[in-house]
This record gives sequence, structure tokens and C-alpha cells, in this order.
Amino acid sequence: MKELLVAIIGAGPAGIAAAVELKTAGIKNIAIFEKAGNLCYTIRRLYPEGKRVDRNYKGMNIALEGVCSFETETKEQFLERMEKYIKDYQVEIFYNTEINGLQKNGEFYIIKAGTCSVARAYAVVIATGVFDKPKKPSYPIPEEVKHRVFFELPKELPEGEKILVVGGGNTAAELACILSGRCDVYISYRRPEFFRINEENLRELEKRKDKITFFLGTEIKGVEPEKEGVKVIFTDGYTEVFSKIFYCLGGSTPRNFLEKIGVRFKDSLPDIDEFGESNLERVFLVGDVAVKRGSIVHAFNSAHRAVKRIIEKYSLIYIQNLKFKV
Ligand SMILES: Cc1cc2nc3c(=O)[nH]c(=O)nc-3n(C[C@H](O)[C@H](O)[C@H](O)COP(=O)(O)OP(=O)(O)OC[C@H]3O[C@@H](n4cnc5c(N)ncnc54)[C@H](O)[C@@H]3O)c2cc1C
Repeated sequence: MKELLVAIIGAGPAGIAAAVELKTAGIKNIAIFEKAGNLCYTIRRLYPEGKRVDRNYKGMNIALEGVCSFETETKEQFLERMEKYIKDYQVEIFYNTEINGLQKNGEFYIIKAGTCSVARAYAVVIATGVFDKPKKPSYPIPEEVKHRVFFELPKELPEGEKILVVGGGNTAAELACILSGRCDVYISYRRPEFFRINEENLRELEKRKDKITFFLGTEIKGVEPEKEGVKVIFTDGYTEVFSKIFYCLGGSTPRNFLEKIGVRFKDSLPDIDEFGESNLERVFLVGDVAVKRGSIVHAFNSAHRAVKRIIEKYSLIYIQNLKFKV
């Protein structure tokens, strides 16, 4: 079992930024636990190859507050950047370690992966993101059409098919654009116009307005199997058959995991203070896991603020000298 000053759960942008901030401040005894076999698993898994990683993802130019930074670049360049941070700051990551328990033991937390206790840590930063559990529609997806319904990108993008993309955020817009050259693409969004997507994506949609069919202000009531496809039934009674549906509805906070370890919720979000500290003393939530809609800039900034707070509030340098003679 590792003895740590700070354990970080999740090696996405938020977890990596937390590690970099801690190392920059001189905190040595830290490690990240990552469930996947590689860092930034959400980005590797959900971003299409060559995707533009937008700096102003939500259309707002938010200033970066901490050590980690980036400008708009490709998925591959962004991943290289994150790998470089890990190397340069000598951050230890334990891969293939899914954390599913946290238990207070005196002034430490025992971090658990399955039945194994993998670490004992003075403070914990939870940076698991929300994309382990994609949001699903409220209506059932019949068994017969499940192979035609996607909540993340398949390994191979479809070609020459009739595709419905459901959602009105940046992910839906980008997917519709990527597929538009190769498939007959429709996009269904319940609002009459897009309001959550950044200017770059709006411009890209505009460029393709002759190639994409926009079903704005539409709501889906249900889906049914149909010969060679899936029939989509809209609330106004209109129906149309597609060969595949891609839902881009975002992720959902891992509420079960958080409540199991004792994190309190307020409405639908974890109840945290302005620095990300939860009701559990010295347990901080950073990145997507703590907000409704996150971004990489938010992940970096929330990690910076949380680390600054942990160090100051809990005299981490003093504790390090006292308990961890590294
Ligand atoms: C398709 C798509 C496109 C996007 N494009 C952009 C963009 O262009 N610009 C932008 O700013 N944002 C974009 N975003 C949002 C951005 O990806 C997220 O805001 C960002 O990744 C959040 O970082 P995070 O570290 O909080 O979470 P994540 O990136 O989700 O990382 C969480 C990490 O924790 C790991 N993990 C989860 N549970 C556990 C566990 N129990 N134990 C151990 N490890 C665990 C995961 O495997 C993962 O590696 C996009 C999102 C999607 C889905």
C-alpha cells in the first residue's frame, strides 16, 4: 500500500493538472490512480482522430490560472502535451486501477480498488470526469436496434449511411460535421436554435448547411426496429428511418460512487465549496466531476485552485516535512 500525501483519482486533464500543480509547489509524495491503461482515457476514447481541441470550448475566452496551458490544437498534439507534463514533472501513475472506495482511517484516507487497499493518503483529489456514464434518453432502446444506437464513437466511422445525431452541444455539432462528407447526416435538437456551441462549430455547421438536415425544435418520443434500420418517432407524430443513431447528450456525474464514499449532493451536483472541497475534509473534486458542463480550461483552473487551497489550508509543506521524510 502506497503512503501518499495526496492521492489523485483519474488521469484526465484535471487529475494531471492537479499533479503538476502539486509538484510545482514542492509536494513530492503524490500519485495518480487511473482505471484505464493510458492517460486521458476520455479524450482518447471519445474524441475522433485529428479532432480540434478547442481552447475556448464553451465560446468564452477564460484565462488560464495555473501551470498547465494549451492553445487550440489537435487531439494528438494535446495528448502529447499531457504526456510531456507527466514526464517533465515525474508524476507517478498507477494504470488499470479503478478506484471504487474511500475510507477514513484516523487522519488518513484508505483508497480502495476492488477489495485491495492501494494507498493511504492525507488528502484526496477526485478527478474522474463524467464520461464513464454517457447520458441516455428517457425512452427505452429496444434490444433489436441496440447495434444501431451509439453513445460513443465506434472504432470505424460509418460510410454512405443515413445517420441521426441527437444533441445540441459541441460534441453533436462536431460529429455531424465529421460525418457530413461521408454520410447523409441529420441532427435533432430539442431547442429551436443552437445556443451552447462555440463560434468555430457554428461556422462549421453553417458551411455544411446544405449537407446536413437540421431537425431543430424536435423531440424524440421513441425508437422502434424497422427493416434495415431504426424508426425514430418524434413527439409531433413525424417518423423517419435511419441506419444509425448517435446520441451526444453528455456524461453524468458518478453519483453512486461519490455518495458511497460519503460525498454529499446538493440538487444534482456534489456539494463543494469554491475550491472544490467536499463535505469530507481534505477530499477535493476537480474537473468535470464537479460541474454541469466542463471543459479542459475549467479542469486546469479547478485543479489549480484546489491544490492552492489544500496546500494553504492544510499546511501541506509542514505535514510533508513532519510525516513524509522524502
Ligand atoms: C467528444 C468530446 C469533445 C470535447 N471537446 C472539447 C474541446 O474541444 N475543448 C475542451 O475544452 N473540452 C472538450 N470536451 C470536454 C473535455 O473533454 C472535458 O471537459 C475534460 O476532458 C474534463 O477533464 P477531467 O479530467 O475532468 O475528466 P476526463 O477527461 O473525463 O478524465 C477522467 C479520467 O479519470 C479516469 N477515471 C474515471 N473513473 C475512475 C475511477 N473510478 N478510478 C480511476 N480512474 C478513473 C478516466 O478513465 C479518465 O482518464 C469534449 C468532450 C467530449 C466528450
